[in-house]
Amino acid sequence: MAITQNYPILEIDLGKFEDNLYAVKTRCSAAGVKCAGVVKGFWALPRMAELVQAAGYEQLATSRLSQIAAMREQGLSGPFMLIRIPALSEIKDVARLCDYSLQSQITTIQALNDECALAGRKHKVVIMADLGDLREGFWSKEMAVAACLHVERDLPMLELAGVGTNLGCYGAVRATREKMEELAMLAREVEDMIGRKLEIVSGGGSNEYSLIHKGELPEGINHLRVGEAITTPRMSFTDYGILEECRNYIHLDVFTLKAEVIEVDTKPSYPVGELGRDGFGGLPHFEDKGMRRRALLAIGKADVPPDMIFPRREGVEVLGASSDHTILDVTDCEHAVKLGDVLEFDLNYVSMLSLTGDADVPKIYKE
Ligand SMILES: *Cc1c(COP(=O)(O)O)cnc(C)c1O
Repeated sequence: MAITQNYPILEIDLGKFEDNLYAVKTRCSAAGVKCAGVVKGFWALPRMAELVQAAGYEQLATSRLSQIAAMREQGLSGPFMLIRIPALSEIKDVARLCDYSLQSQITTIQALNDECALAGRKHKVVIMADLGDLREGFWSKEMAVAACLHVERDLPMLELAGVGTNLGCYGAVRATREKMEELAMLAREVEDMIGRKLEIVSGGGSNEYSLIHKGELPEGINHLRVGEAITTPRMSFTDYGILEECRNYIHLDVFTLKAEVIEVDTKPSYPVGELGRDGFGGLPHFEDKGMRRRALLAIGKADVPPDMIFPRREGVEVLGASSDHTILDVTDCEHAVKLGDVLEFDLNYVSMLSLTGDADVPKIYKE
């Protein structure tokens, strides 16, 4: 039987998203940088992916083939860029579905060339260099250059689009001018050897956008793959100290989570009884602040991590959650929280990722 589920809902302001797309793209263009619009953070939601395409982003990029297949199905024209280096087992689909991919293994590159020959489709590759973050990419610069030459000279179905790197994901290595110069130098070495300019020298994602904002991106980097910057740039912009300045031209409230209050009561802040582990196996720490006014929301960790949502109502503090309840301290709210209230929250990249992919949370679009 159908139920009426009013809350939680995720509201997506398409106008604000569009503003962000243009704001970031305009500033990148002015710095001579083209952008891939990365759609994985919102599961390539069709209404949003469509706007990325319409805003003229150079590629539609994601880490998952399923999302590229869905965007094609939707009728978007791409070009489509796969930004997780492909598994050997998915090469057939990469050849069929993608126009660009990031690469760091010779065997995979050769297999892709063979599959492209079978599919009768050409494909562009970006050779990744690991500059210290220790995720994907050739560690040896010589090997990276050799891979570029191999693609250029020996693999007829592949085109060497360029080189790229990724920072600040696993190793938390900062996107600095020096790291970008290192990549630009690698690109120049390859260009000298092949006797032509590379289409793509891809410096990274939203972390590297901070260099564009500050006007510090070195010559020679001409491409970024941006996801967080166009959606919920709270984390990287805070980390790079540009959040306050960027508020002038990037909306932080494209997404609004709305959740309903199902209990309000005054309770102790310290649990009463013998303490063991919580519902997720953790050993939580509690501060005894005496009796507090508390509210429960009908949403939980199964939907979103409680420390990744940011209450808009002044005085609301998120204390924690179990799988289906989120617990709030609302003692300090001037505008008292009542049973049945619908509270609004801002998101960051992590909560956007969980909520856009959550089939149990309806998405409501604001034009
Ligand atoms: C996810 C991803 C990006 C986008 O990063 P943002 O920080 O969201 O801009 C860029 N490149 C690669 C390889 C990625 O996996």
